[in-house]
Amino acid sequence: MRVLVSGGAGYIGSHTVVRLVAAGHDVVVVDNFGNAKPAVIDRLEALTETNIPVHAFDLTDKDKTEHLFASEQIDAVIHFAGLKAVGESVQIPLDYYQNNLESTFSLLRAMRRHGCSSLVFSSSATVYGDNAPVPYQEDYEPLSAASPYGRTKVMIEHVLRDVAHIDPVWRIAVLRYFNPVGAHPSGTIGEDPQGIPNNLMPFIAQVAVGKRDRLQVFGADYPTTDGTCERDYIHVEDLAAGHVAALNRIAMSNSPIRTWNLGTGTGTSVLEVIHAFERASGRTIPYDVVARRAGDLPAYWADPARANEELGWRATHTIDDMCADTWRWQSENPHGYEDAAPPDE
Ligand code: NAD
Ligand code: UDP
Repeated sequence: MRVLVSGGAGYIGSHTVVRLVAAGHDVVVVDNFGNAKPAVIDRLEALTETNIPVHAFDLTDKDKTEHLFASEQIDAVIHFAGLKAVGESVQIPLDYYQNNLESTFSLLRAMRRHGCSSLVFSSSATVYGDNAPVPYQEDYEPLSAASPYGRTKVMIEHVLRDVAHIDPVWRIAVLRYFNPVGAHPSGTIGEDPQGIPNNLMPFIAQVAVGKRDRLQVFGADYPTTDGTCERDYIHVEDLAAGHVAALNRIAMSNSPIRTWNLGTGTGTSVLEVIHAFERASGRTIPYDVVARRAGDLPAYWADPARANEELGWRATHTIDDMCADTWRWQSENPHGYEDAAPPDE
């Protein structure tokens, strides 16, 4: 299949490109490089030993999106492109709604016009809101989210259901990711956050490599095993494999839309992640326990049974694997894709 990967220069998209090529697919990337470096494409071409066509434009531009579909034969789309920082989305909600919704609308319209009906969409565990029973199961309703970012995912899920309902030619996979971490085992591609990382694993990695002094642990008084929050961390390599499995599945499916959780089914606490990273890196991670972060839930993880059964997919990497691969990427690329950057931004 010739697969268009939107956001293919980003963290999860880049790892999925490698998996797609390994599975025999042709890949075309579209990315506006708003949150990615062009250098990732060189690394991808070296890793895959293929030439990867890249369209560098913003998907909210309907005309350019239309032109892409007119100029390339696209059989399926994996739609990663989007803004994803929860805190930032509270500050600039209109940018989040506009970017995430309009890019999806212009893709859907262009796909429909050009007879492309296979779509894999990046959703998130955030759509389960604050009250879903743990472990999270796909049929839980109503979807809700506590941030504008999360609400773009809820809204897009509803848009996709409505579109699939009225036009059953669609074959749509909605994938709800839990907490993606880790990096490709080659150490050549990985997560490259701009500025201060919002997420736990990249922050720990930057402390380990000496870019930041100490980690702040947001609360140790939760009703969990050690008092710190528990999340379902999933290796980005497992996540990438889940996309290839979903693409295969929708190609054979009779239903226009289906949702799958991509998680391990296990919760890991903040302190457990710190200790796993210390084992993987051989470095000590200094930390201070500080106040809870507003909006954090104590503990949640996926029920991955549906993906295990229907996609024939299962997460195989442990938290130690996730930390080891994150550490290889971070220690070999202390400044991410900006090799020549000064020690700190
Ligand atoms: P990322 O920022 O690394 O990748 C997204 C890519 O999309 C970037 O390269 C960015 O430049 C590009 N992009 C954004 N808006 C665009 C637009 N309008 N036109 C063209 N390109 C655009 O993020 P990621 O971590 O790889 O996440 C990929 C997807 O998965 C996102 O939709 C995100 O919301 C979702 N997701 C991520 C996580 C996570 O923790 N990383 C969790 C759940 C869901
Ligand atoms: N966390 C933390 N310090 C940090 C970043 C995160 O203690 O600097 C905690 C956070 O409170 C949460 C967990 O680590 O319990 C995972 O946070 P992350 O932002 O990575 O994912 P999310 O909470 O969005 O699932």
